[in-house]
Amino acid sequence: MVKVLDEHERTMAFAQVALGQIRSLRQNATPRNYEIWYVYATGYNPPLNKVVNETLARSGRLTDTDLEQIYESYLSQIKSPDRIDKVGAQVVGEIDDVMGILSEALGMSSNYDATLNGASQRLSGAQTLDQVKAIIETVGKSTRQMLDTNKVLEERLATSKSEISNLQHSLEAIRAESLTDPLTGLGNRKYFDGMIEMAVQTSLASNEPLSLLMFDIDHFKSFNDSYGHLTGDQVLRLVGQSLTQIMREQDITARYGGEEFAVVLPNTALRHALSLADQLRRTVMAKELKKKSTGEILGRVTISVGVSLLRPDDDTDALIERADACLYAAKRAGRNRVICEVDPEYVEELRSQVA
Ligand code: GH3
Ligand code: MG
Ligand code: MG
Repeated sequence: MVKVLDEHERTMAFAQVALGQIRSLRQNATPRNYEIWYVYATGYNPPLNKVVNETLARSGRLTDTDLEQIYESYLSQIKSPDRIDKVGAQVVGEIDDVMGILSEALGMSSNYDATLNGASQRLSGAQTLDQVKAIIETVGKSTRQMLDTNKVLEERLATSKSEISNLQHSLEAIRAESLTDPLTGLGNRKYFDGMIEMAVQTSLASNEPLSLLMFDIDHFKSFNDSYGHLTGDQVLRLVGQSLTQIMREQDITARYGGEEFAVVLPNTALRHALSLADQLRRTVMAKELKKKSTGEILGRVTISVGVSLLRPDDDTDALIERADACLYAAKRAGRNRVICEVDPEYVEELRSQVA
């Protein structure tokens, strides 16, 4: 018999570890610091624990700057609009710098032009060798100055170029992050919405078949209630891993919301989609869940899957609605199964929706 864990006691224990760390390191008990130490205590974010341990081993403490950086890097994914603003401001700063460099270069070049013009006029009126020598010296000095300044400007432009390329990478990373579900690493709902629309348009234009799987973990609420939300999160990650394991490169996988996932299968007919769906169902069911910290065996979870096939007169919403209705039909029919639009359970589901 598996022992039912008390979520209250577990979370209180994490809270105590968090407050204990804040106290012993004499940090401010701000929500940000508490969040860092609470997550640390759960062990749920290994990269965060690693950087905290390394910083403590190196300097014996965590400064405000360390904490701010850790928070920014490991906990603030949700706040990407702030980071976009920051990177945006840096881009504007760089552009200002480059404009400054360019106008300085233009100024220099027109000064040099004036020097050369002046020299040419003075040369035509020069009477003695010394006068010519003096004029040539002025031109030489001015040319050297011009070359020196050009070198400095070139270096500054090169720095700006690499700075702008770094900022470009930051923006790409923020964009990727804003489309990723942090828990499972799969695409999030926003990613799914954009990708399915494109895939549907491509399929309609090319007449290639396209299938959609929507699936949901069975009785997940009672799993969470029995073993706690954090263990539930581990299950979500495990389901995400099964998905990545089964699906092909071309498939678009996403966490649709909560404990529901979706997969767009481009260029895939219904039969093949059903076989992939069943493979996925069996893979999830085959995994024995073990609690990482204690090794306690928690049993298995199952999923119910709905499958729809794009029709020539379809749109994305209709395709999603049919897969969703199939998913509900699978739940009603007893869960842990795959149902598609040609199954009698689907027809029954439609009838019950109308009634
Ligand atoms: P069914 O078989 O009908 O799908 O039953 P169910 O219990 O899975 O369905 P229900 O919709 O009642 O419960 C879904 C639960 O999923 C509720 C919530 O506790 C859990 N859940 C949703 N998102 C998360 C999450 O991010 N982490 C964890 N741990 N649980 C989540
Ligand atoms: Mg469920
Ligand atoms: Mg659900």
